[in-house]
Amino acid sequence: MKKINVTVWNEFKHERAGGAFGDLIRKYYPNGMHRTLAEKLAADDLTIRAVSLDEPEQGLPEGILNTTDVLLWWGHCAHAEVKDELVDKIQLRVLAGMGLIVLHSGHVSKIFRRMMGTACRLRWREAGEKERLWVVSPSHPIAKGIPETFVIPNHEMYGEPFDIPQDGKIIFMSWFEGGNVFRSGVAFERDNGKIFYFSPGHETFPVYHDPHVLRVIGNAIRWAAPEKIFESRVTPQPESPEHVYTQNPLKSIDTRAIHQ
Ligand code: ZN
Repeated sequence: MKKINVTVWNEFKHERAGGAFGDLIRKYYPNGMHRTLAEKLAADDLTIRAVSLDEPEQGLPEGILNTTDVLLWWGHCAHAEVKDELVDKIQLRVLAGMGLIVLHSGHVSKIFRRMMGTACRLRWREAGEKERLWVVSPSHPIAKGIPETFVIPNHEMYGEPFDIPQDGKIIFMSWFEGGNVFRSGVAFERDNGKIFYFSPGHETFPVYHDPHVLRVIGNAIRWAAPEKIFESRVTPQPESPEHVYTQNPLKSIDTRAIHQ
């Protein structure tokens, strides 16, 4: 069986913060959320690496990125530090087939905004309120084995309006105790790549210890894993599959160079 190569990328800043804030997060994620996710998601069909922003080449040198089938992304306070050149490379790899799973505050990461083409803003509130998730696409592979509804007892509120493109397939909807609603799990396709946004995962609550949340992320990895990565996209097609009878008035001019 060919294993799926998963890379969990985390900006890994909050977990190293000082004071009571850092202590609270380290209580749930002593080695960082990326390592907790890697441990909790471990399975026979997955090879999982955990990387972070402060590592060489921001955690994703080509040797890692180009051998990743599915990339998980958690970021919050350091989105701006991610280099645009890295975002370019990730975008191309997603378009070539790599799966991308964007978690929680990754909604305004450079890579998610790039892939969506919108600002991806939402309403939020840190009141530690109850969140109830509902499966709205029960036949979708990402919802496999998930009950119709489940609760995260304390979470940050993420609410509508969420300005993502309307072509996303909604897999989960959330209701919050304070009255807000949110599309908390949405699946997209971009060229050869599959993308899933999943909002659970605020750093001060043990959300990545919840078995339902982990099951959703595990399902999403297997859904997003590509059958193959397309090495490069060829755009010129000088030879047509059918014969072109119309005479090209510009045939003496080679326009290929200016179109590439
Ligand atoms: Zn948060």
